[in-house]
Amino acid sequence: MNTPSTLAPQLGAARRWRPTPLITGSAALHAGAAAALLAQPSTWPWAVGGVIASHLALAAAGLWPRSALLGPNWTRLPRAVDGSDDRRIALTIDDGPDPEVTPRVLDLLDQHGARATFFCIGDLARRHPRYVEEIVARGHAVENHSQRHRHNFSISGPSALRREIEAAQRTLTEITGMRPYFFRAPAGLRNPFLEPVLCEFGLQLASWTRRGFDTREHDGHKVAQRLLDGLAPRDILLLHDGHAARGPSGNPVVLDALPEVLRAAAMAKLRWTTLRDALDLDLDLAPATVNTAANPAVNPAATDSRQAERPRQPAGLPGRNGAGHPPFDKI
Ligand SMILES: [Zn+2]
Repeated sequence: MNTPSTLAPQLGAARRWRPTPLITGSAALHAGAAAALLAQPSTWPWAVGGVIASHLALAAAGLWPRSALLGPNWTRLPRAVDGSDDRRIALTIDDGPDPEVTPRVLDLLDQHGARATFFCIGDLARRHPRYVEEIVARGHAVENHSQRHRHNFSISGPSALRREIEAAQRTLTEITGMRPYFFRAPAGLRNPFLEPVLCEFGLQLASWTRRGFDTREHDGHKVAQRLLDGLAPRDILLLHDGHAARGPSGNPVVLDALPEVLRAAAMAKLRWTTLRDALDLDLDLAPATVNTAANPAVNPAATDSRQAERPRQPAGLPGRNGAGHPPFDKI
């Protein structure tokens, strides 16, 4: 279902990590502070102050979901290769699958002929694999939103980040038969250790252009308006099928907001695409996506081909069940 472009064989392949100017500058400042302390110990207040300032800058960059200061980050779809008037936009749906909400979201998308990208949580996918299979069977994409969606994800070290991401890669690949190519951090929060881990797995970080805050907002119309205000081609929108807030009627608010968003996009003659399919048109990717250096020693899976990947057929949706969810962030 995904037509590879000339760049596509590099998708999912391990690539070399390229530190951003902020990270390079921070490293240089640390080295400079150490050298200054050795040469002239009395400069310690300046050295310590500089190091603290650089850590604050890195932390601030990690708390800004749409920032590219720590590494490449999709906040909009790439431009069309041929410069055509590309009317594509992307809907991303996070924190599922949810036995109650996901099937209803899929029905709404079908009714409007829309395709979406679902950032699934590995543990939930393992618990409800048939919903994940159904997502793929209906023409949507499944991407990596970590295995457990832990509150402490953004303050985790490289090993913990790698465990979360690798577990979700394995879970989602086993269920769908297709390897995720995009990663979205829980709550969009991260730290400087994330990008090197994403490089190992050939994953591209994706955030959004605007979000509806549908895990907190109880008014579906307000959620829709947040997404539609200034809506333009190449926008990436964020909604949730997991952790959905409830409207006054008790309905998950995403189900109230989504029809309005889908109708407005149709009126504006915008077309829905998945993130991975948007790559087909692109020659202007984030540098780390283009400048890949496949390293099978780091990621043996990097050597397989997209052609070998095929979505699994759904086994049919089970009836609703009352399985409780583990604790999550509500973003
Ligand atoms: Zn989330």
